[in-house]
Amino acid sequence: MNNHRRPFWISEALAAEPSGPARPLEGTVRTDLAIVGAGYTGLWTAILAKQAQPDLDIVIIEADVSGGGASGRNGGCVLSWSTKLASLIRLYGETEGTRLAVASEQAILDIDRFVQEHRIDCDWRLHGTLYTATSAAQMGASDSVMAALEARGLSQWSRLPIDEVRRRAGSRAHLEGWYSPLAATVQPGLLVRGLRRVALSLGVRLYEGTPLGELTSGQPLTLHTPRGRVIADRAVIAVNAWMGELFPAFRRSIVIVSSDMVITEPDPSALARSGLDRGISVLDSRTFVHYYRSTRDGRVMLGKGGNTFAYGGRVHEGFDAPSGYAGALMLALRRMLPEFSHTPMAASWNGPSDRSATGLPFFGTLPGHSNVWYGLGYSGNGVGPTRMGGAVLSSLALGLDNEWTRSPLTHGPLGAFPPEPIRYTGSILVRNAIRRQEKAEDHNRPVAPWDRWLAGFAASAGKADKASKA
Ligand SMILES: Cc1cc2nc3c(=O)[nH]c(=O)nc-3n(C[C@H](O)[C@H](O)[C@H](O)COP(=O)(O)OP(=O)(O)OC[C@H]3O[C@@H](n4cnc5c(N)ncnc54)[C@H](O)[C@@H]3O)c2cc1C
Repeated sequence: MNNHRRPFWISEALAAEPSGPARPLEGTVRTDLAIVGAGYTGLWTAILAKQAQPDLDIVIIEADVSGGGASGRNGGCVLSWSTKLASLIRLYGETEGTRLAVASEQAILDIDRFVQEHRIDCDWRLHGTLYTATSAAQMGASDSVMAALEARGLSQWSRLPIDEVRRRAGSRAHLEGWYSPLAATVQPGLLVRGLRRVALSLGVRLYEGTPLGELTSGQPLTLHTPRGRVIADRAVIAVNAWMGELFPAFRRSIVIVSSDMVITEPDPSALARSGLDRGISVLDSRTFVHYYRSTRDGRVMLGKGGNTFAYGGRVHEGFDAPSGYAGALMLALRRMLPEFSHTPMAASWNGPSDRSATGLPFFGTLPGHSNVWYGLGYSGNGVGPTRMGGAVLSSLALGLDNEWTRSPLTHGPLGAFPPEPIRYTGSILVRNAIRRQEKAEDHNRPVAPWDRWLAGFAASAGKADKASKA
């Protein structure tokens, strides 16, 4: 991919670096642990494994550049799983479900400490998040999960008076809101490049422009790349949306769907007038939520999931193009933040998200390979949770016995989507029903019963972006 076509955040991050990409692999290298994919998951796995066992030799191969996938282009809203508590308990039981909800908040604090410790300059701001409603139909969407957290003494959330919600969100569009301080925003490209820098400083060997082709099982196993091979005792596959292309057995475990983004030019005075609070993120409660946040140079970014679906799980070129929905997103941004009505859009983009059937990631041992582990399925909420993914995968690769290797998160995918063409056709039907439902609700009009019925499949399939109504 050409640099000028890259999404906004990763372009900005690469432009700030003096050195170019790491050289591709040529010839044969031998290593203890091979990691495939240099997004947050692969890099956290490498860093945590190195920290636990400094003499472990690690090689990462990355098809593009580190951060070329979702990690360099996401919305940078760092959120926990606390609002997924009901799903976590339903899937994993009370003890593990509550442990994971708490661990997901701790992961954010761990990233906070890591970013300070390693001086990663990535506009990291641990300023919390607001989950709001922007239509009467959305009101009360968070009540049951907040009550469940409260009942267990786990709640970090507080319901704010409506004037305070509007003040912090910088917008009068909100009708109610819950605030948690345990959330952050970040320039995601700078974060992933910072993780890359730390991994390299720990002695990890990185080959960019080096896609994995085939994997030959064995002790050791061989990872074949276009001009070389890695011979490794163990491997971790952290390729996210590309998993189904490499390993067809996973094609039905995820749906690949875009999240689309717009970002404005810097306009610090509009930002100051709006009152949008520092590094807070704001999410409404529609099925495919609108989420927005500011940047330190006075921009506002708004995103929304659930637009483009990949037929057969193939990440096609459309996922690397500017967003086809930029106009609608800018309208939504300006409706939310009228102070930006005359501020030009600087860029739009989109990218592939890996939606699992549960809305939560899954990890496991690659079928047919006892020494290869994988993790994916973050379902649009991965910036914070990939820190946990790194803990799971590094623990598996190091053969540890701990709360991560014992977690049922490591039991592989829980549920499958239908085969094609049913999956694609079904996704489009559901998406269009959600669009009609959202439009009706935005205008306080009744929703057609069949649209409500179809839209229900998205919630049950865990497709809701960022927040979970589970
Ligand atoms: C547009 C968008 C917006 C999002 N917004 C948010 C948000 O605001 N908050 C949030 O929490 N989450 C968000 N997410 C989700 C979050 O970005 C991801 O869950 C997270 O980045 C996943 O990290 P990863 O390392 O698993 O995957 P990736 O970052 O996608 O890394 C996978 C890597 O594998 C590489 N690869 C693929 N195939 C091969 C191969 N054959 N050989 C070698 N390497 C290969 C890719 O090039 C890529 O670099 C968003 C996602 C998208 C796409």
